[in-house]
Amino acid sequence: MFEKLRSAFSSLSKLATHTGLSEKEIDSILWDFELAMIESDVAQEVIQNITSSLKRRIQDTKIRRGNDQIDFVRTQLKDAIRDLFSKTPNVDVLALVKSKLDKNTRDSFSPFVILFLGINGVGKTTTVAKLAYLLKNKGYGVVLACGDTHRAGAIEQLTEHANRLKLKAISQSYGSDPAAVAKDAQLYAEAHKVGVVLIDSAGRIQTSKNLMEEMEKIVRVVKPDLKIFVADSLSGNDAISQAREFKNFTDFDAAILTKADADTKGGAALSIAAVTQRPIIFLAVGQDYDDLMPFNVEQFVDNILS
Ligand code: GDP
Repeated sequence: MFEKLRSAFSSLSKLATHTGLSEKEIDSILWDFELAMIESDVAQEVIQNITSSLKRRIQDTKIRRGNDQIDFVRTQLKDAIRDLFSKTPNVDVLALVKSKLDKNTRDSFSPFVILFLGINGVGKTTTVAKLAYLLKNKGYGVVLACGDTHRAGAIEQLTEHANRLKLKAISQSYGSDPAAVAKDAQLYAEAHKVGVVLIDSAGRIQTSKNLMEEMEKIVRVVKPDLKIFVADSLSGNDAISQAREFKNFTDFDAAILTKADADTKGGAALSIAAVTQRPIIFLAVGQDYDDLMPFNVEQFVDNILS
């Protein structure tokens, strides 16, 4: 995972093998680093952010050659990357679910509702199933809402996951209103005291304005407790611009990056949190139900700096 990004960061080792570099020499090393980050699909503003922060830190400090210097550059880099993630709030799905469901009483029951957003093909439906599996294993009841009423096969695909996971799926016919499907699922969960509702949604890209209006309507009708944006790690800069657009229209709470198992670049993982100021909460790393890893900033930083 993320080999290209790792090699971009390792190009900075030159900073650690010379002492007293001139500003021009530092610029030249940082320029090579910038190019390597562009090749890894890191967003432009994130590149600027890291390089200017590094330059400032390095120029301000005189350090000795050798291990001290290697440790110094590494520490500065770690801090520069941590800074990118520092403005994102902490979103712990399991804790949020528990906290809401703990408030239910015998007479009034309100499920925890999660809406999944993202364009077709990113792995949204598979991710809904993976989170359903995780929640089920934690002991929660889960109902799935087949809210993608546009893409051929989407309803059958989610229903098949529900069958395999022995969960209820709520659907209507293709072309029906996804907000109505989502509401049906919410009402079902209330009536049967099912703890969590996971709503899949459409993601056709050709009619982005209509798509966003459709998402807004679902949000108005079911008032989800959490909106999760799903992005395909492999689509690099496209994933970053989709994240920007969905953030503007839907103000999602958190992101999940799929196909990280096949992502050799890592630019989307580094950029989405910085660009949207929303946390990445899971990396999806394969096609099996348990291929969902909690995203941990420290592990990510250690991985790309190793
Ligand atoms: P949707 O259109 O966004 O609902 O996407 P799907 O859930 O149908 O997934 C599209 C394709 O990506 C399918 O072939 C999935 O098996 C595959 N996929 C989804 N998540 C992952 C992942 O984390 N890793 C890999 N390698 N493939 C994935």
